[in-house]
Amino acid sequence: MIPSVLPTYNRAPLHFVKGEGSWLIEADGRRFLDFGAGIAVNALGHAHPALVSALDEQARKLWHVSNLYEIPQQQALADRLVEKSFADTVFFTNSGTESCELAVKMARRYWHESGRPDRTTIVTFGGSFHGRSSAGIAAAGSEKMTQGFGPLLPGFRHVPWGDHDALHAAIDETVGAILIEPVQGEGGIRVLPDRCLRGLRALGDERDILLILDEVQCGIGRTGRLFAHEWAGVTPDIMMVAKGIGGGFPLGAVLATERAAACMTAGTHGSTYGGNPLACAVGCAVLDIVAEPDFLEDVRRRAGYLRQKLEGLVGAHPDLFEEVRGSGLMLGLKCRIAPGDLVQAGYGCGVITVPAADNVVRLLPALNMTEDEISEGVNRLDFAADAVRDALS
Ligand SMILES: *Cc1c(COP(=O)(O)O)cnc(C)c1O
Repeated sequence: MIPSVLPTYNRAPLHFVKGEGSWLIEADGRRFLDFGAGIAVNALGHAHPALVSALDEQARKLWHVSNLYEIPQQQALADRLVEKSFADTVFFTNSGTESCELAVKMARRYWHESGRPDRTTIVTFGGSFHGRSSAGIAAAGSEKMTQGFGPLLPGFRHVPWGDHDALHAAIDETVGAILIEPVQGEGGIRVLPDRCLRGLRALGDERDILLILDEVQCGIGRTGRLFAHEWAGVTPDIMMVAKGIGGGFPLGAVLATERAAACMTAGTHGSTYGGNPLACAVGCAVLDIVAEPDFLEDVRRRAGYLRQKLEGLVGAHPDLFEEVRGSGLMLGLKCRIAPGDLVQAGYGCGVITVPAADNVVRLLPALNMTEDEISEGVNRLDFAADAVRDALS
């Protein structure tokens, strides 16, 4: 008999009932150090007082009104994002995949309104992840996500990650946009080198192609800058955001330049919930903290500390681990074992991590995890590594 919850996940038998900062508490009382943060969602950990009071205050006033009316919290959050980024304008969604939908629609309509309706092709990359909507799975294109869900949304051209020749061969007059994650998350914490992001920007400028960045996982302070592309010193035309921006409340956004977004006039797009007062009140509280230069400086310092600890872990277990990779607090342990085995052993040692493709275990702690917690978490991973070795021998 099919379970009452549609079984699309292989769930671990853990039932968290409470969160405190970087700690998750299981129904049986066990405490886990959380290096998953809801897959880079709980940017400020669990039950952060500023987020709790922002949500609570807004909940007592007004939960939801339609986008048929002005929403001051949404206006405030859009103003903050515009002030802190390349963007001139913002549309709010409830998830990363909804942001993907709008990014794709905007790119296509841009060319339609520019008198080049043939420029519908969007170039994407191997190992990418853009969500589970029809546009998201067609964009990523992996068989694992698309099998049985055809006919797929047409117009995506997939290029292997890191293959410059294939990229150049994929560019023709029908290409209207390039869509890429500055740091691949699900794909195994693969960092797009700064020079490659600059190269994509230059290619876009030269051939008049829009650059769409998916910063759903790597944005909102995760790499030690508010947005990951800032490291390369170039800006996109359109950017997808979600995950960390709501700190755990469902919220996403598409940020864009005026040039790219001017085609999206009244009636061309909408969302019932997108940008509602509750979500945006929390989003403002998240950004008030995460967008501060001092906070981002702290993230970079903590990231250096975690990276150093993980290098030590790799050095101590060269039979299990190959390398540490990633950017800021978006780090991956490239494994010689099945990453799921380490994640599983971590549960037994009171530490939460997340597997990714390419044999990687992801570490995506809250951006405010303390150095003591980082140190304790890596100790627990060290025990987990021993447990994996014992189980294998
Ligand atoms: C998680 C993720 C998405 C999809 O976000 P949802 O909120 O699950 O729809 C899209 N792109 C990237 C890079 C992601 O990590």
